[in-house]
Amino acid sequence: MTKMNLTSAASRKATVWQPATITDIVARSGRVKSFFLKPSKPFSYSAGQHGTVRLTAADGYRAQRNYSIASAPEQGEIVELAIEHLDGGEVSGFFHNIAMAGDEIELKAPIGGHFIWSVADGGPIVLIGGGSGVVPLVSMLRHRALNKSNVPVVLLYSSREWDEMIFRDEIFAAEERNDGFKFVLTTTRDKARRKGDHERRIDAAMIVETLAKLPGAPAQCFVCGSNPFVEMAAHHLMDANVSPKIIRTERFGV
Ligand SMILES: Cc1cc2nc3c(=O)[nH]c(=O)nc-3n(C[C@H](O)[C@H](O)[C@H](O)COP(=O)(O)OP(=O)(O)OC[C@H]3O[C@@H](n4cnc5c(N)ncnc54)[C@H](O)[C@@H]3O)c2cc1C
Repeated sequence: MTKMNLTSAASRKATVWQPATITDIVARSGRVKSFFLKPSKPFSYSAGQHGTVRLTAADGYRAQRNYSIASAPEQGEIVELAIEHLDGGEVSGFFHNIAMAGDEIELKAPIGGHFIWSVADGGPIVLIGGGSGVVPLVSMLRHRALNKSNVPVVLLYSSREWDEMIFRDEIFAAEERNDGFKFVLTTTRDKARRKGDHERRIDAAMIVETLAKLPGAPAQCFVCGSNPFVEMAAHHLMDANVSPKIIRTERFGV
């Protein structure tokens, strides 16, 4: 797709689409950048929700995609989207190759009511993310940290490579705080770098290990990533006697 000339065609009266300005762009890994958006009409949201961005080309062609909100509700009106650059990707390609701070896009947010968590919901909580599927889970972790919550949470994060891990330092820092947050890392196309990390795809044993990091049975499990990743992780959770009733999933696509 050629360069899009973005419009600010969002209707003022609509509560759905609104213009949002890119205030900053930060590299998070080799393939992922965070885009900080200042909505013209600030909104509140819950950790785990997503937004839809819409781009409009000069000829009127439009493309829209969903992106999870990486920031926590407590972090103010500017929302962070962490977008992975997919080869040939229309919208992710725009964000990575063309978008600049100061550009305006259209945003509809917040969206989604099933994949949300608040410290008030309690725990223990299992979070399982594959690749960019970790984004809404990081929002939950940030929300938990900003509320100084010690709800038991374990994150199982599957990343292809060490250098593709998103929010790596932040997650390691959370682990260091020793406040009830536990972390299990696996890199599927890279060597394990730390003692206890894994270097294979998620399997039954890794799910059992993850569940055992919690002080009790999970109250809720949140699984996010590609369709096959979510299918696989949910399947292993159920094999480990986790009720499907407490497994919530968010699928990013193929
Ligand atoms: C609720 C929700 C939340 C999402 N949150 C995020 C997020 O936080 N960060 C993020 O990077 N993405 C997220 N996505 C995925 C995002 O919406 C787009 O699908 C993705 O950015 C690809 O769009 P594109 O226009 O760049 O690629 P397209 O032009 O649509 O596709 C390009 C190529 O990539 C393939 N492809 C499309 N989507 C994916 C995918 N998800 N994984 C692998 N290959 C794919 C297509 O088959 C095609 O071959 C989310 C999706 C949903 C439904």
